[in-house]
Amino acid sequence: MSLRDHIADLIAREGPMRLDAYMALCLMHPTMGYYTTRDPFGAEGDFTTAPEISQMFGELLGLCLAQTWQAQGAPERFTLAELGPGRGTLMADALRAAGAALPAFVEAAEVLLIEASPAMQARQKETLAAHETRLRWSATFEPPADLPLFVIANEFFDALPIRQFVRQGAHWRERQVGLKEGRLSFGLGPAAPQPALRQWEAETSDGDVVEYAPALAPIVAKMDSVIAAQGGASLIIDYGDWHSLGDTLQALQDHAHVDPLDAPGAADLTAHVDFEALAQAVEHSALTRVTPQGVFLERLGITARAERLAAGMDAASLSAHVAAHRRLTHPEEMGNLFKIAGLYPKAAAPPPGLEP
Ligand code: SAH
Repeated sequence: MSLRDHIADLIAREGPMRLDAYMALCLMHPTMGYYTTRDPFGAEGDFTTAPEISQMFGELLGLCLAQTWQAQGAPERFTLAELGPGRGTLMADALRAAGAALPAFVEAAEVLLIEASPAMQARQKETLAAHETRLRWSATFEPPADLPLFVIANEFFDALPIRQFVRQGAHWRERQVGLKEGRLSFGLGPAAPQPALRQWEAETSDGDVVEYAPALAPIVAKMDSVIAAQGGASLIIDYGDWHSLGDTLQALQDHAHVDPLDAPGAADLTAHVDFEALAQAVEHSALTRVTPQGVFLERLGITARAERLAAGMDAASLSAHVAAHRRLTHPEEMGNLFKIAGLYPKAAAPPPGLEP
């Protein structure tokens, strides 16, 4: 049975399905989900992420955390967590660069990889084989409460299932996935009060769609409390904005947009990250300003690093390298669409490249 038929069957038996339930099935169904059955990255995959574009991305994030660790007194044990590590490329680049600059940082790190897909876990194990003894995996984010916590999350929060609500006068109706003449189709549930904490009434008018990722706040709250109590920092990079209004659900297959209901389990489903919702989940630590990825990478010295790597490249590698640099930083490419925000202890300085 295909995932589409399985979902249609569930709807036929139990009624229309919430969008977050649909997304969770599409992305993580144990045998037919998107992340559980394939490696979606790279030119042959469905999309390309920053660490797969250039080693410079992971290197600079690793150096950023290593410097933050040193500024906080170089604690001799800490958790280095990554949420949704993909192929493990970012962590490998981060550990290599940080290890070259500050070997004690890597020595002190207990690496915790948060990955719900066994297929992606296996892929990460291969990429990070050189660091085998310091790696641990978990499907959910349960960081040790008694160690400083340093976190990287690149394109993780955009994969969290969302709910969508449509405003109708003073009421809200939830978007649901139902069946219409045998096909999956969007519909609206009964009128209900909005379930989230946001003051949406003031910002919206009739017909507006708002989104809410139920899993976001609990994950941020865990980072927040451990970083405030034990020290550390968190770098959260994603596409989205301070404020996300409207329908941002998108499905990508073969580097092209497709209908989110067309290919359950075969297309990547994401939504923009609402950094304001993220900020609202931070209570005990400080949150930096939301900064465009391009600005952040330039502040960390990506151009100098790019020039150093360029020396000795042949013409073909050099043109790919120049294109990769541009892709990561240029405002018309990923430089502005992707944003970064950092969590850090209130008494500490923000991570390099970010402002209070
Ligand atoms: N950070 C990587 C990959 C981003 S894709 C990169 O930049 O290349 C999203 C990753 O998060 C995948 O590894 C996916 O399997 C994982 N993931 C998605 N939803 C998850 C969830 N709810 N819990 C844990 N891991 C999840």
